[in-house]
Amino acid sequence: MENRIREARPHVTRNENLIFERSTPGKSGVDLPPLDVPAVAAEQALGKEFFREDIQGFPEVSELEVIRHFTRLSTWNYGVDTGLYPLGSCTMKYNPRINEVVARLDGMATDHPYAPEDLVQGCLRVLHETARCLAEITGMDAVSLQPAAGAEGELTGILTIRACLAERGNPRQYILIPDSAHGTNPASVSISGYEVRNLKSNARGCVDLADLERAMNEDVAGLMLTNPNTLGIFESQIREIADLVHAKGGLVYMDGANMNALVCVARPADFGVDVMHLNLHKTFTTPHGGGGPGSGPVAVKKFLEPYLPSPTVEQASDGTYRLNYDRPKSIGRVRAFFGNFGMAVRALAYILANGPEGLRQTTEDAVLNANYVMSQLKDLYELPYDQPCMHECVFSDRRQAARGVRTGDIAKRLIDYGFHPYTTSFPLIVPGALMIEPTESAAKAELDAFIDAMRAIAQEVEENPEFVLKAPYTTRVTRLDEATAARRPVLRWKS
Ligand SMILES: *Cc1c(COP(=O)(O)O)cnc(C)c1O
Repeated sequence: MENRIREARPHVTRNENLIFERSTPGKSGVDLPPLDVPAVAAEQALGKEFFREDIQGFPEVSELEVIRHFTRLSTWNYGVDTGLYPLGSCTMKYNPRINEVVARLDGMATDHPYAPEDLVQGCLRVLHETARCLAEITGMDAVSLQPAAGAEGELTGILTIRACLAERGNPRQYILIPDSAHGTNPASVSISGYEVRNLKSNARGCVDLADLERAMNEDVAGLMLTNPNTLGIFESQIREIADLVHAKGGLVYMDGANMNALVCVARPADFGVDVMHLNLHKTFTTPHGGGGPGSGPVAVKKFLEPYLPSPTVEQASDGTYRLNYDRPKSIGRVRAFFGNFGMAVRALAYILANGPEGLRQTTEDAVLNANYVMSQLKDLYELPYDQPCMHECVFSDRRQAARGVRTGDIAKRLIDYGFHPYTTSFPLIVPGALMIEPTESAAKAELDAFIDAMRAIAQEVEENPEFVLKAPYTTRVTRLDEATAARRPVLRWKS
């Protein structure tokens, strides 16, 4: 009886043998008709090397057992389709199914990137329209859809800065980056051949203008700024910041991964940004995570357009779409073909399905949700920068750490309450950060359940910190060695 209960609820059993060993010797999942040609002739026709008497070590299971096995495994995962996924800075919002319907249309899914331009006018139009919409949303003049992720967008954007300054006579040496930046920013800068100079944040969590003024000189190629920054705070002095950089001949790069807080409310081009990237897999609802394809388009002001990757998609005067490879100042290709085309299709479907009003509502709801969570938790969790936030809020574990419980422990306990953890320990300028981004997808009842869980955990920390330190209790595996799990993942079960 005990065994049957465990079998029926495999997600709570920790007996690997029971879960994975389904094979019965001699069982077959398929019934093939008997061979109706002489075996020897077949062997001669196909070649001996393609013949196998037996496939050693394959599980012998029925079709139904295979279906059940993989369906069961799929239920061990947690995704945006399962529940709230408040992973700060990642914008884990709902991926509307209409996007998938459109991306699977024959012409979208099966056209070949080597097909002649005349035969793929529809696909080229999708690329052109997507770029046009993103240009309108950011206020920028030109967009390249080639980069495959945010980090590659950063690299592409910084390379356009380098190409532009080099043509003006001196590419310069440094890029300034605030201490609250995402880790990809310094990485992209150094791959581009620049050196990073750090800027300190002020007491409000924003760029310190005096520090920027001291650091900005003619050796500095530009500033790389995330806005809203990783604290979820809008850099309200962004105009002054941009003016300081421009006055010394530098350019302003904006990491636009947090555009979910700005879409159809504010345009980076209007507050002095020269070049930026967007994350279609965050802000524009294309699927996200698990190493699947992403998309990090780069948007630039007119003067940087000649340096964007080639080819660009352009509309000729007769209305047809053409690929333009004749761009001598371009930094070249950064990605095969035209980028992850399917992501552009999904993003365009999302943009058109919502329209400007819908997108604005999305932004407002995302900001409202984050502020609601912040207001309901700040009496129990320390809020180091206490001011209205944008799309996410960042607490510190300082109070809980005094009882020996850190942000990672609280996150583990949150799993027991049925939620995906928030982002832990980032940004680094907040000790023991809890970074929460609910996105607009969360309904109020779901936010309330999350808030209740966080409040209950805060109480558990007060009453029984030891208990929280051993969480999670409801998952198949408990505390993994996270570094080894990432560096040397064991992806296959062996008996
Ligand atoms: C997610 C993110 C990035 C990197 O985007 P990827 O698509 O993961 O490469 C860069 N900056 C910020 C602020 C981000 O949140």
